[in-house]
Amino acid sequence: MKAIYCSDAGYDCEAIILAPTAEEVLNFALAHIREVHGEKPTPELIEQLTELIKEE
Ligand SMILES: [Zn+2]
Repeated sequence: MKAIYCSDAGYDCEAIILAPTAEEVLNFALAHIREVHGEKPTPELIEQLTELIKEE
């Protein structure tokens, strides 16, 4: 599984986004950040999140 820890992106948030592929985990993380943190996905955010993807 691929994982993105929301706190790694600088949010005070314990959410861990999990998905089988990097593309899905990125999409889930972007949806989470948009819905929970109210931020629009920017190219910089997408790039940052891509670097934060971990193998679980
Ligand atoms: Zn979060």
